[in-house]
Amino acid sequence: MQPPQADFRSIKQRIPIDGVLARYDVKLRSVGPHTLCGPCPLPTHTSRHSQESFSVNLARQVWSCHSASCIAARHGRLGGHVIDLVAIVEACSLRQAGIRLQDWFGRGVPPSHPAPLRPVAVESSAAQPNRPLGFALQGIDNRHPYLTQRGISLTTAQWFGVGMYHGAGFLAGRCVIPIRDEQGRLVAYAGRAVDGQEPKYRFPAGFRKSQVLFNLDRAIETGGHNVIVVEGFFDALKVYQAGHPGVVALMGASFSQRQSELLLSRFASVTLMLDGDQTGRHAAEVMAKSLTPKVRLNKVELPNHTQPDQLSSAEINVLVGPPNRTS
Ligand SMILES: [Zn+2]
Repeated sequence: MQPPQADFRSIKQRIPIDGVLARYDVKLRSVGPHTLCGPCPLPTHTSRHSQESFSVNLARQVWSCHSASCIAARHGRLGGHVIDLVAIVEACSLRQAGIRLQDWFGRGVPPSHPAPLRPVAVESSAAQPNRPLGFALQGIDNRHPYLTQRGISLTTAQWFGVGMYHGAGFLAGRCVIPIRDEQGRLVAYAGRAVDGQEPKYRFPAGFRKSQVLFNLDRAIETGGHNVIVVEGFFDALKVYQAGHPGVVALMGASFSQRQSELLLSRFASVTLMLDGDQTGRHAAEVMAKSLTPKVRLNKVELPNHTQPDQLSSAEINVLVGPPNRTS
């Protein structure tokens, strides 16, 4: 007797990924016309730091988790299709996952999406760059107390253009942070909640964090050889404020091929200053491995549970050296 076969191609095309997630009782939020986002349901996910790292593209039938530790536990893979998902959750082979999916959804269910679908690698090298925005928000309040509370001076807030946005839309009532590409073109605004609302950060639908480094355009303008890499926007603001304009933020703890290329093409030396937690340390290790042969690398170890944005300028300068010495 023939062992049961799984028709991978047909499964990937016709079995709806949201249906599979529903089977596992995974609840995600809609963050765009085809995009869902939320906490990662995979057993490979150990970080409690990355709350919103899992996302699903319904049109492309693919998923990904951007948490560095989760990626590492999946042997460097950012995501995949529906069969990969089941294989990881069930800890079984791809073939077994395929057979399970056929058992659950049958062998001849009509396609859930009319358009022909093809499996696409998430974050492939062909990932599209972010398009310039074509507008700028008006009336951003750089003097809002939220910035003062976080130790951001008015001069720093004005230089970065960050502040409260009181207008309408999905960024209303949030502290907005303009994000520019390496050529200085405005490509997005991040919106930070100031009152404990979830999600902590909002980004426009379709914005690809992996294609940019926050403040890279200005770090390049300094003409320095070294760049300091931090995780978050506010880390970058504080490091800048301590006298180091050559600083960029990953906007998280994941590091993409594109971000690596952006750094390598501009700087001969990189100082990593990621968060003092498991996620930050792991991300720094992953980054160090990918950058070391090509640049001079310096790793700043932060004390446990410390992030650069919690440090004073003096404390930052003890860790990275006095201003003008980091370039
Ligand atoms: Zn994960």
